[in-house]
Amino acid sequence: MSHESLENADRRRLLKAGLAVGAAASLPLLPGCGAPPAEPKAGDAEWRNWSGSQVSHPKAWLNPRDEAELAAQMRGAVGNIRVTGASHSFSALCQTDDTLFSLDQLSGIISHDPETLQATVWAGTRLRDIGAPMWKIGQGLSNQGDVNPQSIGGACGTSTHGTGPTLGSFSSMVRGVRLVTAEGEIIDADAEHDAEVFHAASTSLGALGVVSQFKLQNRKAYKLHEREFAEPLAQVLDKLAAYTRDNRHFEFWPFIESDLAVVKILNETEAADVPAPEENLPVTGILNLFARLADTVPGADGPLQRLLTRLHTPVDRIGRSYNIFPSERDSRFNEMEYELPAEQGPACLQEIIATVKQSEVRTLFPLEYRYVAADDCWLSPFYERASCAISVHQHISVDYRPLFDLVEPIFWKYGGRPHWGKLHTLDAARLSQLYPRWDDFLRVRERLDPKGKMLNAHLKKILVTA
Ligand SMILES: Cc1cc2nc3c(=O)[nH]c(=O)nc-3n(C[C@H](O)[C@H](O)[C@H](O)COP(=O)(O)OP(=O)(O)OC[C@H]3O[C@@H](n4cnc5c(N)ncnc54)[C@H](O)[C@@H]3O)c2cc1C
Repeated sequence: MSHESLENADRRRLLKAGLAVGAAASLPLLPGCGAPPAEPKAGDAEWRNWSGSQVSHPKAWLNPRDEAELAAQMRGAVGNIRVTGASHSFSALCQTDDTLFSLDQLSGIISHDPETLQATVWAGTRLRDIGAPMWKIGQGLSNQGDVNPQSIGGACGTSTHGTGPTLGSFSSMVRGVRLVTAEGEIIDADAEHDAEVFHAASTSLGALGVVSQFKLQNRKAYKLHEREFAEPLAQVLDKLAAYTRDNRHFEFWPFIESDLAVVKILNETEAADVPAPEENLPVTGILNLFARLADTVPGADGPLQRLLTRLHTPVDRIGRSYNIFPSERDSRFNEMEYELPAEQGPACLQEIIATVKQSEVRTLFPLEYRYVAADDCWLSPFYERASCAISVHQHISVDYRPLFDLVEPIFWKYGGRPHWGKLHTLDAARLSQLYPRWDDFLRVRERLDPKGKMLNAHLKKILVTA
């Protein structure tokens, strides 16, 4: 038997074992290991985010049918007002015990221009619902992140991003907004009209009012070829320049205790579709079980991480861009992410790995390492800076604070700006040092919401200097 077929036989045995473990782990035997809870909806008594780390009990959770109703409801809203999309932010951006808006009924493409490849979309549109209609009009989003339940409003609200050194975040795709203020005023803004509102509202954290429409710069509809494989981390770091130069999208997931990282590469293609591999692991079940074991059984994290990277099934598939970008992420976790000057990425990553390795802190999950192009949105973490995005994760059954407290000062040392939608501990005094247009954003915020109705406790902490 050749070396390769031995490896394949080995892999099949591991896969079978993995399938059995995954099936067992899918049973709700352990806290945090059952089926994910249903997504909360407008009208529910309790709002919670995806990971369950943020919970609140809005007195009114409103779901307007159109802009006129949204404006009227904003005018009549009692107390603090917040707006949520898919509640996929880990930070407390959407928390309120007063009035919460969801724009689930404001969804879809409103208009489009086949010449400029721009489309105006309702802010409540989920990314998962926009790919197929855009394909029909010959357009595609220039980039997307790991998953697609998020709303356009939420993705732009926090500068959500995918990977690719020439590709910006969702905020960088914005060419115009329609905003409804807390007083119910409707403002249309773009680079020519009310430009200061436009620059502030392309990454707004929902602090200016509720954006009802975004005009997005798209590109011609396209297909992607995805390749995902395990490779020694040292080799990936050696090939970093070539990987980023030669591929439209490149990212990798390095583990703390495994020498292997998982690499993902996407490139444009016109070739025929190739489906995903059939032999695939029940990743969610395995991660849920392994995360608990890594936390509770001393010394288990290393062997489990190494087993996970060995179990990894290489992916080689082709399809429409909107079907290729998103992956399944049903094993719930909490996350911290910082965006660093691109050239600082490798040193920062290596310091994080070495620091966690030497500590008592354990995590099963890999880090994620991506590239994002610079933009000119005032509160975008990518403002005038080509960036490298590094994130750390901890399963929801494990206290995330020891890991995140250990890693966050390393991000600061390398000049990191936190992802607004992920967990961090910075306040306005610290954040204002990181954003050249900070005061301009605050001036626009004051103008649009002088009574501070859009500010919850978290937004006060991160935007209002004490
Ligand atoms: C499993 C998972 C995977 C993820 N993958 C990625 C990734 O690959 N890349 C990445 O960058 N991030 C990623 N994130 C983070 C996520 O994309 C962001 O937190 C995003 O903001 C969530 O979108 P949402 O629709 O859930 O918005 P929410 O979390 O509901 O809201 C986010 C912010 O946007 C504001 N907002 C929402 N709608 C509007 C509106 N209409 N008008 C004004 N403000 C509005 C809210 O008030 C809030 O401040 C991931 C999160 C999870 C849970």
